[in-house]
Amino acid sequence: MLIDLHTHTFMSDGALLPSEHVRRAWVKGYRAVAITDHADISNIESLLRKSVPVCRELSAAWPITALPGVELTHVPPEHIDRLTKLARSLGARVVVMHGETPVEPVPPGTNMAAIEARVDILAHPGILTEEEARRAAELGVALEISARRGHCLGNGLVASLGRKFGNTLVINSDTHEPGDFLREELHRKVGLGAGLSEEEYAQLCRNSETLLERLMK
Ligand SMILES: [Zn+2]
Ligand SMILES: [Zn+2]
Repeated sequence: MLIDLHTHTFMSDGALLPSEHVRRAWVKGYRAVAITDHADISNIESLLRKSVPVCRELSAAWPITALPGVELTHVPPEHIDRLTKLARSLGARVVVMHGETPVEPVPPGTNMAAIEARVDILAHPGILTEEEARRAAELGVALEISARRGHCLGNGLVASLGRKFGNTLVINSDTHEPGDFLREELHRKVGLGAGLSEEEYAQLCRNSETLLERLMK
Protein backbone atom coordinates (compact mmCIF):
# COMPACT_ATOMS: atom_id res chain seq x y z
CA MET A 1 0.00 0.00 0.00
CA LEU A 2 1.11 3.54 -0.70
CA ILE A 3 2.42 6.28 1.55
CA ASP A 4 2.08 9.96 0.62
CA LEU A 5 3.81 12.59 2.71
CA HIS A 6 2.73 15.70 0.77
CA THR A 7 -0.95 16.53 0.11
CA HIS A 8 -3.32 19.50 0.40
CA THR A 9 -6.88 19.91 1.67
CA PHE A 10 -9.44 22.68 1.87
CA MET A 11 -7.40 24.08 4.78
CA SER A 12 -5.23 25.65 2.06
CA ASP A 13 -5.74 25.27 -1.71
CA GLY A 14 -6.88 21.64 -1.86
CA ALA A 15 -10.43 20.71 -2.83
CA LEU A 16 -11.65 18.53 0.02
CA LEU A 17 -12.23 18.65 3.74
CA PRO A 18 -9.68 16.52 5.63
CA SER A 19 -12.23 13.75 6.32
CA GLU A 20 -13.11 13.13 2.69
CA HIS A 21 -9.51 13.65 1.61
CA VAL A 22 -8.23 10.93 3.95
CA ARG A 23 -11.15 8.63 3.21
CA ARG A 24 -10.51 8.87 -0.54
CA ALA A 25 -6.81 8.20 -0.03
CA TRP A 26 -7.70 4.99 1.83
CA VAL A 27 -10.04 3.88 -0.98
CA LYS A 28 -7.29 4.56 -3.55
CA GLY A 29 -4.93 2.20 -1.71
CA TYR A 30 -2.96 4.38 0.70
CA ARG A 31 -2.07 3.30 4.19
CA ALA A 32 -0.69 6.67 5.33
CA VAL A 33 -1.17 10.22 4.16
CA ALA A 34 0.29 13.45 5.49
CA ILE A 35 -1.84 16.58 5.36
CA THR A 36 0.70 19.26 4.55
CA ASP A 37 -1.27 22.35 3.71
CA HIS A 38 0.56 25.46 2.57
CA ALA A 39 1.80 27.47 5.53
CA ASP A 40 3.63 30.65 6.34
CA ILE A 41 3.60 32.92 9.38
CA SER A 42 0.04 34.08 8.56
CA ASN A 43 -1.61 30.70 9.13
CA ILE A 44 0.80 28.19 10.64
CA GLU A 45 -0.65 28.32 14.14
CA SER A 46 -4.32 28.22 13.16
CA LEU A 47 -3.66 25.48 10.62
CA LEU A 48 -1.94 23.13 13.06
CA ARG A 49 -4.41 23.91 15.84
CA LYS A 50 -7.02 22.39 13.52
CA SER A 51 -5.10 19.67 11.71
CA VAL A 52 -3.33 18.02 14.66
CA PRO A 53 -6.54 16.93 16.45
CA VAL A 54 -8.29 16.22 13.14
CA CYS A 55 -5.52 13.83 12.06
CA ARG A 56 -5.69 12.09 15.42
CA GLU A 57 -9.45 11.57 15.05
CA LEU A 58 -9.25 10.39 11.45
CA SER A 59 -6.45 7.93 12.23
CA ALA A 60 -8.59 6.47 15.02
CA ALA A 61 -11.69 6.28 12.85
CA TRP A 62 -10.26 4.61 9.74
CA PRO A 63 -7.55 2.07 8.95
CA ILE A 64 -5.24 4.74 7.54
CA THR A 65 -2.70 6.92 9.30
CA ALA A 66 -3.20 10.66 8.86
CA LEU A 67 -0.18 12.72 9.81
CA PRO A 68 -0.42 16.45 10.52
CA GLY A 69 2.14 18.60 8.76
CA VAL A 70 2.83 21.75 6.80
CA GLU A 71 4.33 22.71 3.49
CA LEU A 72 6.25 25.92 4.15
CA THR A 73 5.59 27.88 0.98
CA HIS A 74 7.29 30.96 -0.49
CA VAL A 75 8.65 32.04 2.89
CA PRO A 76 11.82 34.14 3.04
CA PRO A 77 14.74 31.69 3.26
CA GLU A 78 15.99 33.28 6.51
CA HIS A 79 12.62 32.46 8.16
CA ILE A 80 12.61 28.76 7.26
CA ASP A 81 14.55 27.55 10.29
CA ARG A 82 12.30 29.42 12.74
CA LEU A 83 9.10 28.26 11.05
CA THR A 84 10.32 24.65 10.94
CA LYS A 85 10.89 24.69 14.69
CA LEU A 86 7.55 26.46 15.27
CA ALA A 87 5.68 23.87 13.18
CA ARG A 88 7.19 21.01 15.18
CA SER A 89 6.43 22.72 18.49
CA LEU A 90 2.79 23.01 17.37
CA GLY A 91 2.57 19.28 16.65
CA ALA A 92 3.55 18.95 12.98
CA ARG A 93 4.88 15.45 12.29
CA VAL A 94 5.98 16.31 8.78
CA VAL A 95 7.63 19.53 7.65
CA VAL A 96 7.76 19.76 3.86
CA MET A 97 9.49 22.67 2.12
CA HIS A 98 8.06 23.99 -1.14
CA GLY A 99 11.34 23.87 -3.01
CA GLU A 100 12.63 25.79 -6.02
CA THR A 101 10.26 24.30 -8.58
CA PRO A 102 10.93 25.33 -12.21
CA VAL A 103 7.37 26.65 -12.54
CA GLU A 104 7.12 29.22 -9.74
CA PRO A 105 9.22 32.17 -8.56
CA VAL A 106 10.32 30.51 -5.32
CA PRO A 107 13.04 32.65 -3.68
CA PRO A 108 16.56 31.48 -4.63
CA GLY A 109 18.29 30.01 -1.59
CA THR A 110 15.10 28.25 -0.43
CA ASN A 111 16.44 24.74 -1.12
CA MET A 112 19.63 25.19 0.90
CA ALA A 113 17.93 27.08 3.75
CA ALA A 114 15.41 24.24 4.08
CA ILE A 115 18.14 21.60 4.07
CA GLU A 116 20.10 23.46 6.75
CA ALA A 117 16.88 23.79 8.78
CA ARG A 118 16.54 20.00 8.53
CA VAL A 119 13.01 19.95 7.20
CA ASP A 120 11.80 16.38 6.68
CA ILE A 121 11.25 16.61 2.92
CA LEU A 122 12.47 19.08 0.31
CA ALA A 123 9.64 18.97 -2.24
CA HIS A 124 10.09 19.54 -5.97
CA PRO A 125 13.58 21.10 -5.66
CA GLY A 126 13.76 21.96 -9.36
CA ILE A 127 17.29 22.48 -10.64
CA LEU A 128 18.89 20.79 -7.65
CA THR A 129 22.64 21.39 -7.30
CA GLU A 130 25.31 18.86 -6.33
CA GLU A 131 26.02 20.87 -3.19
CA GLU A 132 22.34 20.76 -2.16
CA ALA A 133 22.12 17.01 -2.78
CA ARG A 134 25.33 16.36 -0.82
CA ARG A 135 24.18 18.46 2.14
CA ALA A 136 20.68 16.91 2.14
CA ALA A 137 22.29 13.45 2.31
CA GLU A 138 24.52 14.55 5.21
CA LEU A 139 21.63 16.01 7.20
CA GLY A 140 19.07 13.29 6.37
CA VAL A 141 16.65 15.52 4.48
CA ALA A 142 14.59 13.47 2.00
CA LEU A 143 14.28 14.71 -1.57
CA GLU A 144 10.97 14.48 -3.41
CA ILE A 145 10.20 13.03 -6.81
CA SER A 146 6.94 14.78 -7.62
CA ALA A 147 3.95 13.44 -9.53
CA ARG A 148 2.60 16.95 -9.97
CA ARG A 149 2.56 18.61 -13.39
CA GLY A 150 5.26 21.29 -13.71
CA HIS A 151 6.92 20.41 -10.41
CA CYS A 152 7.90 17.05 -11.97
CA LEU A 153 10.23 18.73 -14.50
CA GLY A 154 13.21 18.32 -12.18
CA ASN A 155 12.57 14.66 -11.32
CA GLY A 156 15.31 13.24 -13.53
CA LEU A 157 17.92 15.46 -11.90
CA VAL A 158 16.71 14.56 -8.40
CA ALA A 159 16.93 10.85 -9.22
CA SER A 160 20.42 11.08 -10.72
CA LEU A 161 21.92 13.27 -7.97
CA GLY A 162 20.12 11.14 -5.39
CA ARG A 163 21.90 8.10 -6.79
CA LYS A 164 25.27 9.90 -6.74
CA PHE A 165 25.03 11.17 -3.16
CA GLY A 166 22.90 8.43 -1.60
CA ASN A 167 19.91 10.62 -0.78
CA THR A 168 16.68 9.33 0.65
CA LEU A 169 14.12 9.82 -2.11
CA VAL A 170 10.32 9.81 -1.76
CA ILE A 171 7.54 9.95 -4.34
CA ASN A 172 4.65 12.22 -3.41
CA SER A 173 1.47 13.06 -5.31
CA ASP A 174 1.17 16.66 -4.02
CA THR A 175 -2.58 15.98 -4.24
CA HIS A 176 -4.84 19.02 -4.42
CA GLU A 177 -7.89 17.22 -5.81
CA PRO A 178 -8.94 13.63 -5.15
CA GLY A 179 -8.09 12.58 -8.72
CA ASP A 180 -4.45 13.43 -7.98
CA PHE A 181 -3.96 10.48 -5.63
CA LEU A 182 -1.87 7.86 -7.41
CA ARG A 183 -2.64 4.22 -7.98
CA GLU A 184 0.23 1.85 -7.27
CA GLU A 185 1.00 1.35 -10.95
CA LEU A 186 1.26 5.09 -11.64
CA HIS A 187 3.35 5.58 -8.48
CA ARG A 188 5.82 3.05 -9.90
CA LYS A 189 5.84 4.75 -13.31
CA VAL A 190 6.64 8.12 -11.69
CA GLY A 191 9.70 6.50 -10.17
CA LEU A 192 10.81 4.63 -13.29
CA GLY A 193 10.08 7.67 -15.45
CA ALA A 194 12.42 9.72 -13.28
CA GLY A 195 15.14 7.23 -14.21
CA LEU A 196 15.13 4.91 -11.20
CA SER A 197 15.80 1.22 -11.81
CA GLU A 198 13.26 -1.34 -10.53
CA GLU A 199 15.66 -2.06 -7.68
CA GLU A 200 16.05 1.63 -6.81
CA TYR A 201 12.27 2.05 -6.92
CA ALA A 202 11.84 -0.85 -4.50
CA GLN A 203 14.45 0.76 -2.24
CA LEU A 204 12.57 4.07 -2.39
CA CYS A 205 9.42 2.30 -1.20
CA ARG A 206 11.31 0.74 1.70
CA ASN A 207 12.84 4.12 2.57
CA SER A 208 9.36 5.66 2.68
CA GLU A 209 8.30 3.02 5.22
CA THR A 210 11.35 3.82 7.37
CA LEU A 211 10.73 7.56 7.09
CA LEU A 212 7.08 7.11 8.05
CA GLU A 213 8.05 5.13 11.14
CA ARG A 214 10.48 7.88 12.15
CA LEU A 215 7.87 10.61 11.65
CA MET A 216 5.25 8.75 13.69
CA LYS A 217 7.49 8.44 16.76
ZN1 LIG B 1 4.88 22.72 -3.19
ZN1 LIG C 1 2.34 20.97 -2.26
